[in-house]
Order: sequence, then C-alpha cells, then structure tokens
Amino acid sequence: MRATVASLRTPLKFVIWAPVVPDFETFTSRCAVLALANTLPFRTSPTTFLLSPIHPPSLDVLISKRLLVHFLELVDDVAIVAWEHVFALLRGLPRHAAMCVLKSWLNGWCTSRRFHEVRAFSCFLGCPAPDTFAPYHACPRLWNVVAARTHGQRSANTIERLGLVLGARQREALANLALAYTLYHELKIGNLQMSADAIRVRSFAALAHHLKAVAYAHAPRLGCR
Ligand SMILES: [Zn+2]
Repeated sequence: MRATVASLRTPLKFVIWAPVVPDFETFTSRCAVLALANTLPFRTSPTTFLLSPIHPPSLDVLISKRLLVHFLELVDDVAIVAWEHVFALLRGLPRHAAMCVLKSWLNGWCTSRRFHEVRAFSCFLGCPAPDTFAPYHACPRLWNVVAARTHGQRSANTIERLGLVLGARQREALANLALAYTLYHELKIGNLQMSADAIRVRSFAALAHHLKAVAYAHAPRLGCR
C-alpha cells in the first residue's frame, strides 16, 4: 500500500512505500499474527504493531531510524538534525536529486547485500568492504570522484556526507550525496564489467576517468555547483 508524504511541498510530493489504514482483511490478518505473539518474539509491542498502520511515523523519524540501522555510531548526530531546515534545502534541489538523497537516507541503494544477490560483491571501486550502503560513505575512490567535480571540496565525515550537518555547505553536501548515488548506480546498473576489470588488474585510473566524466555530465541536473 502506498502513502503520499506531502510534508515537504505541494506539488512536490514524495511517495514512499508505507502502510496506511488497513482494510478489514489486513486488520484480521494482523490479528491472526498477533495471536502468535505469545510464542514468537516481537520487535515491537503488539499495540505498536497494531497501530502502526494507522499512525505511520513521520518522515524525519523514519529516516532517523533507517540511518541508525547502518550508522549506529551517529546516534548523537542524528538526534540533533534540524530536519525542517534539511527538508527546506531538499525542496531547493532538483526533484530527481531530492529523490536520490531520500533513497540514500532510506537505504535505497541497489547493493547486492540489500537484494540478497547470490554473489555478494565487494565495493565496486576496489575497497576491501562489502557492497553495502554504509561503507560507500567512507569510500575514498567514490568521494575523490565527487570532489573532482566539486572543485576539491570534501566533507569531513559521514554525517556531513549525508548532508545532515547544519552549515553553509549543507545544500552542496546534499547535492553531492545525490551525485554519489548516481555514480554508484552508474557502475551497478550500467558498468559492472568495468568495475570487475579494474578490480582484477588493480588499476582504477580508467574507472576513475569514466566516473569523472559521468559526474560532470550529471552534476548540473543534480544541483551541484
Ligand atoms: Zn570503495
């Protein structure tokens, strides 16, 4: 079921997959599941489980929870994010860039771990890290390419790369996150063989050259300056 999150701006509405008020069949199905609550360990209380479709969490709460799944060390930083300001900046980005950012916060990268692919890849840019969302935010080759397009400006840490640190460069950080999202999927969707070849011969110059060309081509429509 779909719910439209219209908290950002009309007509800019972000559609996310989330439960809404259940119909009777769904409700009875949930009651049947709750009947097992005495024997199965639940991650939430039965009351929370039952009421969650009626009162879905707000977008900032949802994003915070998803982020902490991957970046538990950022719990203090995420707790003080000025979400209204972040959403205001997001509204100023091109719509496609805003979606890339939202999908990044909500673990929307098409990583092999997320899709439970048979072959579990490592970082497509050659790091000894799994192909999961979190390590890419510390991937030097990925962010070197982003920095090449953004005139050497670099975020100091993960929370800055996620665009969640208040400051003069926050809007740019959000656009850069959208660019990182685009670069990753350029490899994952379109050039997996190029990545495999670079990793096999341990030479990443051609790969970096290609990604820089992609970055320069996509940066304007993502709102990068
Ligand atoms: Zn890497």
